[in-house]
Amino acid sequence: MFRHDDMALRKEVCGRMSAIVYVTIMLAVISVCTLVSVPPLFFRKCPACGVRNFLEAHTCKGCKAPLPDDDGQDTTSCGRHGGGC
Ligand SMILES: [Zn+2]
Repeated sequence: MFRHDDMALRKEVCGRMSAIVYVTIMLAVISVCTLVSVPPLFFRKCPACGVRNFLEAHTCKGCKAPLPDDDGQDTTSCGRHGGGC
């Protein structure tokens, strides 16, 4: 009788442990995916040498090559070139 309750208790504890392990593994996978996918959003890769520069950088810190504005949302460059739009 007592032995049966002990077995049930162990099974419940074991089930909780596997749930905790499952959540931990899922959080680890999510954090790894975030770490892999986030840097390209904040860094701009130089097409010439492959060095990662900040999004605000206009020239590469590795080879001083001009970085292209591939997003096309920089409205401040429009007035800098003397109008036209
Ligand atoms: Zn470069």
